[in-house]
Amino acid sequence: LDLNLVPIMEDDNEFDGVLLVLQDVSAIRRLERMRSEFVANVSHELKTPIAAVKGFAETLLGGAVNDPEISRSFLQIIFDESERLNRLIGDILELSKIESRRVPLQFSPVELTSFVGKTVDLMKSEATRKHITLNLQAEQGLYVEADEDRLRQIIMNLLSNGINYTPEGGKVSVKVEAIQHGVPVTDEDADYDHIRISIADTGIGIPKKDLPRIFERFYRVDKARSRSSGGTGLGLSIVKHLVELHKGSIWVDSRVGAGSTFIIELPVLQ
Ligand code: ADP
Repeated sequence: LDLNLVPIMEDDNEFDGVLLVLQDVSAIRRLERMRSEFVANVSHELKTPIAAVKGFAETLLGGAVNDPEISRSFLQIIFDESERLNRLIGDILELSKIESRRVPLQFSPVELTSFVGKTVDLMKSEATRKHITLNLQAEQGLYVEADEDRLRQIIMNLLSNGINYTPEGGKVSVKVEAIQHGVPVTDEDADYDHIRISIADTGIGIPKKDLPRIFERFYRVDKARSRSSGGTGLGLSIVKHLVELHKGSIWVDSRVGAGSTFIIELPVLQ
């Protein structure tokens, strides 16, 4: 609580009393704290690749440039770290745009079988490179009101995580279903109020204690692993925001060593 005392004066400048103002500022303080934590996290995340670029460039300038093999490997690191910076800055800008509601969503009816099918196709080469099988199971003729670009971004992000956190030879499966009153609809002609998209992998899974936090910005179960797969730690928080802009919800079910399933439910009409 913030407490303020405001003197009340009469017209003739006579002191007349005191006004006591009590204001609940906990929400404002919490927001301020979150904001400054975010800035601290961003600075920390940016510093790591910048330090690498600087360090390797310095070593090259200090003489290593004369060895072609070392030059090549250092330049590759500098290149990779610059790419990483690019991705980080892109994700940070994206997140801040979404959070300040500067992304006007353009809703239109989307037929999900072909839409999700095309999106899955976009990820095929990434999956094949890791010998991961991608498959889709979707009912025909399901529609949802959505912003196509954002919905694609949501699905691609979850697919990309599924591929990243699944060892070679694994499987990532996408399922699209109609939901009425919270349960899957089996009759093709029945009404539905939500659609559910599940993305399941046979990957490393997420420990129970980390589950509540994985949608937080920069939260990673295993920092080194996320880094080596090119992650920024912002993907899931972007996904969660985008799902919420569609008035939908997202949750995850996971078992260490067995795999994870991310489930999104979107209302059919916005
Ligand atoms: P990142 O860029 O690190 O992948 P995300 O925000 O997409 O960041 O995910 C946050 C963390 O959640 C990841 O670092 C990883 O630890 C965990 N995670 C996300 N998706 C999966 C998955 N499909 N399987 C296992 N762990 C996952």
